Amino acid sequence: MDARSREPWRGIFVLLPRDLVDEVGSIREEARPNEACALLFGTMLEREGEVVYDVASMRQVENVLQSPVAFEVDPVVQYQLMQQEEKQGRELVGILHTHPGNQFVSATDVRYMKSAARLARYCWLIAGDGVDGKLEIGAYVVSNGTIRDVPIEYKKQF
Ligand SMILES: [Zn+2]
Repeated sequence: MDARSREPWRGIFVLLPRDLVDEVGSIREEARPNEACALLFGTMLEREGEVVYDVASMRQVENVLQSPVAFEVDPVVQYQLMQQEEKQGRELVGILHTHPGNQFVSATDVRYMKSAARLARYCWLIAGDGVDGKLEIGAYVVSNGTIRDVPIEYKKQF
Protein backbone atom coordinates (compact mmCIF):
# COMPACT_ATOMS: atom_id res chain seq x y z
CA MET A 1 0.00 0.00 0.00
CA ASP A 2 2.78 2.36 0.88
CA ALA A 3 4.62 3.25 -2.30
CA ARG A 4 6.86 5.89 -0.81
CA SER A 5 10.49 5.98 -1.73
CA ARG A 6 12.76 5.37 1.26
CA GLU A 7 15.19 8.19 0.65
CA PRO A 8 14.23 11.85 0.71
CA TRP A 9 14.00 13.21 -2.77
CA ARG A 10 16.73 15.72 -3.30
CA GLY A 11 15.71 18.89 -5.09
CA ILE A 12 12.57 19.43 -3.05
CA PHE A 13 12.41 20.61 0.50
CA VAL A 14 10.11 22.29 2.95
CA LEU A 15 11.28 25.34 4.85
CA LEU A 16 9.46 25.51 8.16
CA PRO A 17 9.59 28.10 10.94
CA ARG A 18 10.99 26.36 14.03
CA ASP A 19 8.35 28.02 16.25
CA LEU A 20 5.71 26.18 14.32
CA VAL A 21 6.70 22.83 15.82
CA ASP A 22 5.33 23.78 19.26
CA GLU A 23 2.16 25.03 17.66
CA VAL A 24 1.74 21.74 15.84
CA GLY A 25 2.21 19.92 19.15
CA SER A 26 -0.49 22.09 20.76
CA ILE A 27 -3.12 21.61 18.09
CA ARG A 28 -2.39 17.90 18.14
CA GLU A 29 -3.00 17.67 21.89
CA GLU A 30 -6.15 19.79 21.71
CA ALA A 31 -7.61 17.64 18.97
CA ARG A 32 -7.17 14.33 20.82
CA PRO A 33 -8.48 11.74 20.24
CA ASN A 34 -9.02 13.11 16.74
CA GLU A 35 -6.74 14.37 14.03
CA ALA A 36 -6.08 18.11 13.81
CA CYS A 37 -5.47 19.88 10.53
CA ALA A 38 -4.04 23.17 9.36
CA LEU A 39 -3.30 24.99 6.15
CA LEU A 40 0.22 26.19 5.44
CA PHE A 41 0.74 29.43 3.59
CA GLY A 42 3.85 30.93 2.08
CA THR A 43 5.64 30.74 -1.22
CA MET A 44 6.51 27.91 -3.52
CA LEU A 45 9.75 28.71 -5.28
CA GLU A 46 11.10 26.85 -8.26
CA ARG A 47 14.64 27.52 -9.27
CA GLU A 48 17.32 25.55 -11.06
CA GLY A 49 15.47 22.30 -10.68
CA GLU A 50 14.84 22.90 -7.00
CA VAL A 51 11.43 23.30 -5.46
CA VAL A 52 11.18 25.02 -2.09
CA TYR A 53 7.99 25.17 -0.08
CA ASP A 54 8.73 28.18 2.09
CA VAL A 55 6.11 28.17 4.85
CA ALA A 56 5.37 31.54 6.45
CA SER A 57 2.15 30.93 8.34
CA MET A 58 -0.04 28.15 9.62
CA ARG A 59 -3.81 28.45 10.02
CA GLN A 60 -5.53 25.78 12.00
CA VAL A 61 -8.83 24.62 10.54
CA GLU A 62 -11.51 22.40 11.95
CA ASN A 63 -11.35 18.74 11.04
CA VAL A 64 -14.92 18.47 9.82
CA LEU A 65 -14.77 14.67 10.04
CA GLN A 66 -13.91 14.79 13.78
CA SER A 67 -12.12 11.51 13.24
CA PRO A 68 -9.05 9.86 14.80
CA VAL A 69 -8.05 8.37 11.42
CA ALA A 70 -9.04 10.94 8.80
CA PHE A 71 -9.45 14.63 8.24
CA GLU A 72 -11.21 16.98 5.89
CA VAL A 73 -11.13 20.74 5.50
CA ASP A 74 -14.30 22.67 4.72
CA PRO A 75 -13.68 24.02 1.19
CA VAL A 76 -15.45 27.29 2.03
CA VAL A 77 -13.18 27.85 5.03
CA GLN A 78 -10.18 26.97 2.89
CA TYR A 79 -11.25 29.47 0.25
CA GLN A 80 -11.76 32.24 2.82
CA LEU A 81 -8.34 31.68 4.36
CA MET A 82 -6.75 31.61 0.92
CA GLN A 83 -8.33 34.99 0.17
CA GLN A 84 -7.07 36.45 3.46
CA GLU A 85 -3.56 35.11 3.07
CA GLU A 86 -3.37 36.17 -0.56
CA LYS A 87 -3.71 39.79 0.60
CA GLN A 88 -0.51 39.22 2.61
CA GLY A 89 1.20 37.83 -0.46
CA ARG A 90 1.00 34.23 0.66
CA GLU A 91 -0.40 31.27 -1.21
CA LEU A 92 -1.53 27.89 0.02
CA VAL A 93 1.55 25.69 -0.18
CA GLY A 94 0.76 22.80 2.09
CA ILE A 95 -1.66 20.91 4.27
CA LEU A 96 -0.74 19.57 7.66
CA HIS A 97 -2.55 17.07 9.80
CA THR A 98 -1.75 15.31 13.02
CA HIS A 99 -2.12 11.72 14.07
CA PRO A 100 -3.01 11.05 17.70
CA GLY A 101 -0.66 8.05 17.44
CA ASN A 102 2.30 7.33 15.24
CA GLN A 103 3.81 9.42 12.50
CA PHE A 104 3.27 7.54 9.24
CA VAL A 105 1.49 7.84 5.92
CA SER A 106 -1.79 5.96 6.25
CA ALA A 107 -3.66 4.34 3.39
CA THR A 108 -6.26 7.10 3.78
CA ASP A 109 -3.50 9.71 3.50
CA VAL A 110 -2.21 8.07 0.32
CA ARG A 111 -5.66 8.22 -1.30
CA TYR A 112 -6.23 11.80 -0.16
CA MET A 113 -2.85 13.06 -1.35
CA LYS A 114 -3.09 11.35 -4.71
CA SER A 115 -6.58 12.65 -5.43
CA ALA A 116 -5.62 16.19 -4.37
CA ALA A 117 -2.50 16.03 -6.54
CA ARG A 118 -4.74 16.42 -9.58
CA LEU A 119 -5.70 19.88 -8.33
CA ALA A 120 -2.53 21.33 -6.89
CA ARG A 121 1.06 20.62 -5.95
CA TYR A 122 0.84 20.97 -2.22
CA CYS A 123 3.29 19.58 0.25
CA TRP A 124 1.81 17.36 2.94
CA LEU A 125 2.94 17.43 6.49
CA ILE A 126 2.02 14.68 8.91
CA ALA A 127 2.76 14.99 12.59
CA GLY A 128 2.71 12.17 15.12
CA ASP A 129 4.83 10.16 17.50
CA GLY A 130 8.27 9.32 16.15
CA VAL A 131 10.11 6.11 17.04
CA ASP A 132 11.45 7.83 20.18
CA GLY A 133 7.91 8.81 21.22
CA LYS A 134 8.58 12.49 20.56
CA LEU A 135 6.63 14.63 18.13
CA GLU A 136 7.88 14.08 14.61
CA ILE A 137 6.82 15.88 11.45
CA GLY A 138 7.18 14.26 8.06
CA ALA A 139 6.87 16.07 4.73
CA TYR A 140 5.69 14.52 1.48
CA VAL A 141 4.96 15.48 -2.07
CA VAL A 142 3.20 13.59 -4.83
CA SER A 143 5.28 13.34 -7.95
CA ASN A 144 4.12 11.37 -10.98
CA GLY A 145 1.67 9.48 -8.82
CA THR A 146 4.31 8.51 -6.26
CA ILE A 147 4.44 9.81 -2.72
CA ARG A 148 7.91 10.87 -1.72
CA ASP A 149 9.46 11.86 1.56
CA VAL A 150 11.03 15.29 1.35
CA PRO A 151 13.35 16.87 3.87
CA ILE A 152 12.28 19.68 6.20
CA GLU A 153 14.69 22.48 6.95
CA TYR A 154 13.92 24.69 9.90
CA LYS A 155 14.24 28.45 9.92
CA LYS A 156 14.16 30.70 12.95
CA GLN A 157 11.33 33.10 12.24
CA PHE A 158 7.89 33.16 10.74
ZN1 LIG B 1 -2.90 10.85 8.22
